[in-house]
Amino acid sequence: MTILRRKIPKFTKSFWREEHNLPSFSPLSENLATDITIVGAGITGITIAYLLAKEGIKVVLIDAGKIIDGTTGYTTAKISSQHGLIYDELIKNIGLERARLYYESNEDALAFIRQTVDELGIDCDLTNQDSYVYSTSKSSKVKVEKEADAYKSLGLDGGLASSEEVQLPFEWENAIVMRNQAQFHPVKYLSGLVSEIQKHGGQIFEDTRAGDINRKGEMQEVITTEGHHIQCNQVIVSSHFPFNDFEGLYFSRLHIERSYSIAARVQSPIPDGMYLSADSPSRSLRSALGLNGEKLLLIGGEGHPTGQSHGETIENYEKLADFGLQHFNLEEISYHWSAQDIITLDKIPYIGAISSDEENVLVATGFAKWGMTNGTTAALLLKDRILQKENPYHDLFDPSRSELTTSGIKSFVKENADVAKEFVKGKVKRKEKELKDLDSD
Ligand SMILES: Cc1cc2nc3c(=O)[nH]c(=O)nc-3n(C[C@H](O)[C@H](O)[C@H](O)COP(=O)(O)OP(=O)(O)OC[C@H]3O[C@@H](n4cnc5c(N)ncnc54)[C@H](O)[C@@H]3O)c2cc1C
Repeated sequence: MTILRRKIPKFTKSFWREEHNLPSFSPLSENLATDITIVGAGITGITIAYLLAKEGIKVVLIDAGKIIDGTTGYTTAKISSQHGLIYDELIKNIGLERARLYYESNEDALAFIRQTVDELGIDCDLTNQDSYVYSTSKSSKVKVEKEADAYKSLGLDGGLASSEEVQLPFEWENAIVMRNQAQFHPVKYLSGLVSEIQKHGGQIFEDTRAGDINRKGEMQEVITTEGHHIQCNQVIVSSHFPFNDFEGLYFSRLHIERSYSIAARVQSPIPDGMYLSADSPSRSLRSALGLNGEKLLLIGGEGHPTGQSHGETIENYEKLADFGLQHFNLEEISYHWSAQDIITLDKIPYIGAISSDEENVLVATGFAKWGMTNGTTAALLLKDRILQKENPYHDLFDPSRSELTTSGIKSFVKENADVAKEFVKGKVKRKEKELKDLDSD
């Protein structure tokens, strides 16, 4: 461990943020009127701003900090519909048809990203990859087998992988593959969309934090913490965690996890494909292209509920480095970073009206560490909603769906309320009574 401590650079740097020059934008300094205000410039906010601006709709996109400096700037950027071993669970919880819809929504998002990169000629290291979840224990082996059955029932492109194709340099029990997935450089991709937003007349403001949203007759008004007002028809809350709860009790329906990543030079061959372990502690692997064209290995994992880390932060990086040393002859850690992502009660994002009383305030959150596709799905769905077009995924993601039916979910709420309360302290508007109700449930 002592050797590793020396190997881990002192300053946390995201590989994605470091390697790319982004445009900068002034803070909002006056009142404005627009069609749609978008709060939060991660993959969700930027994609929706691009889609709407392209349709000739006036958009204002604001971010409390810098664009792409939330979770999207600190991700692993696999673009995949293989979200761990989710399909067996989804079939059990929501049935075959809805599980298939979930898969299709993610495949549509992946297709959209491919098509957009192609159409706009964005150079963002997009490559096709097969995606694998592998087991290293007997109990996970059974889970992987069940997932393979789920793939069969859903007719997904993949199944149990052969030992020839899995390129892991250590012992594993079995693995499930989903074919024809992808990975990219999210900051390069999104800066391509940011240029397009500007080209279509969209306005972007950094260092502009939304503090409140008020209804004014038929209109909405976003009020920044500096006191500027943005009047608009509809607001999109793409701030990762909804900054304004609108009595949707999001703080009690969202579970937050922090995870860690390193990007390293390694001596052993980097496997083709993208990998995720089925066992704990989780390990996520993919390759990435460094500045001078050298291949780096990204290793992610060590996730834990926010605020519940065991030990010092650096130990999480050390464990990832240890894994790299053991299996890939890790030479040097070039970057290391961590971020949080948000998980809903049923692991399906909340995308739609923030509450049944607020049809013109739309939210997109809870991407369960799969926001490259889920955030893109959110943008596509909300664009259709704003343009009053049908969307096949509207009901699946509706935030007001009822998931509070099973005892398991109720206990989840109790377990996570404290974490969520901590996370959103000062971020959401809520009634004290609702918090008390939750405590005494
Ligand atoms: C370690 C890690 C690895 C991951 N790997 C993958 C992966 O391989 N593939 C995948 O699909 N997903 C992955 N994810 C998940 C994915 O990165 C996220 O789901 C996604 O980036 C979330 O995007 P977003 O646009 O919702 O939020 P963000 O990117 O967090 O953007 C929200 C923005 O809102 C701004 N904001 C917040 N409050 C306000 C306010 N009041 N006013 C104005 N602005 C505000 C923030 O400053 C921020 O810029 C990973 C997540 C983590 C943590």
